[in-house]
Amino acid sequence: MQWNKSIELFREAVKHIPGGVNSPVRAFKSVGMDPIYIESGTKGHIFDVDGNEYIDFISSWGPHILGHAHPAIVEAIQKTATKGTSFGACIPLEVEMSKLVKSFFPSMEKVRMVNSGTEATMSAVRLARGYTKRTLIVKFDGCYHGHSDGFLVQAGSGVATFSSVQNNGVTTSTVSETLVAEFNNIASLEDLFKKHGSQIAAVIIEPIMGNMGIIKPEENFLKEVRRVTSEYGSLLIFDEVITGFRLSAGGAQKLYGVIPDLTCLGKIIGGGLPVGAFGGRAEIMDALSPDGAVYQAGTLSGNPLALAAGIAMLKELQKPETYPALQAKGKAFSDGVGRLIEPYADHLYYAVFGTLSTIFFRGKPVRNAEDARACDTELFAKFFRLMIAQGIYLPPSQFEAIFVSGAHTEEDFARTFEAIEKSLKQLYK
Ligand SMILES: *Cc1c(COP(=O)(O)O)cnc(C)c1O
Repeated sequence: MQWNKSIELFREAVKHIPGGVNSPVRAFKSVGMDPIYIESGTKGHIFDVDGNEYIDFISSWGPHILGHAHPAIVEAIQKTATKGTSFGACIPLEVEMSKLVKSFFPSMEKVRMVNSGTEATMSAVRLARGYTKRTLIVKFDGCYHGHSDGFLVQAGSGVATFSSVQNNGVTTSTVSETLVAEFNNIASLEDLFKKHGSQIAAVIIEPIMGNMGIIKPEENFLKEVRRVTSEYGSLLIFDEVITGFRLSAGGAQKLYGVIPDLTCLGKIIGGGLPVGAFGGRAEIMDALSPDGAVYQAGTLSGNPLALAAGIAMLKELQKPETYPALQAKGKAFSDGVGRLIEPYADHLYYAVFGTLSTIFFRGKPVRNAEDARACDTELFAKFFRLMIAQGIYLPPSQFEAIFVSGAHTEEDFARTFEAIEKSLKQLYK
């Protein structure tokens, strides 16, 4: 496989775009390669500018749960575009979208549309602070909630050194308002609440971690998080940007039977266009402007094109056959990969959530971010390079999930299994 045109484009890009990329995860830095430039995609496959074809397991980091260029979504965008792409005024589609979202997530009594997952989480936190009149938030180590200042904290307020704060553009005062707990460790959350409980506006969590690889909550963990937040009158925010719409209608909150006060959505809800949404109890949501005091706005929020694509996507997901088919696809993939990993149990740990999974390069279970960070990322990089040379496009990071879509075929899986088997043999010969 040769990547001449991609290499040429990247050489040009670095002169004009910081690091050559418009989002850091697109850089192939951690796997020791230059990024590949994509020209097109259809179903489960993408094609690069050099004419190489790949089976795509990134699916745009989640949105394309039904594959690239899904006909219903493409048609919705085309039809809507001819009628005008933005008005900055109320449109019928936003009424339809909010009702659709509620049909998937009954806990979202009122919904506001935004342009990205980052906007959704950032706005939800501001709302939580305005509603509770408290200052602090709690996040969990390794959970990603977009790139707004208050979330760019891993090490915890007290621990972050002044110099690192100075370097990354996030102020010490912001950092001091974000407390960090450990996933799957309820005692770590209780400790924070014992010290600061009356000042904590909200706890935000990915109910299933998807940004440190896939890490599932252990028995009762989310229920305990709900119990602690309720006890102290703090809001619970579920960031379901990845898990929402993923495995079934209702997201992780339905699956685990834990109802948050606010929910953030993104990725799938936009069908591949830039969209996010947040919503929750009406009484809380009504604290937003124009009715309430918490300001939140967007020139392109609820944009016709994005809503048309998102609605088309959600309507596909509403069809009774869609989720069972997705679940079957996820199972076929993870069963196959699981079998291939088995002989390497001393070196690898395979975590699965439906159509999402991660091959951790660590021979022990991964329960939290610290476990994930202990993985052999150099070996992962080698594995990535062996796979992409065989036309299998995995996320270029140990800490990202493999995204199976409904458009992947049995043949795609068979080719992928063969490549995994070959690559592992080579790595551990
Ligand atoms: C991707 C992601 C976000 C941020 O969404 P953007 O649309 O990239 O801003 C927030 N939370 C989670 C869990 C995500 O995976």
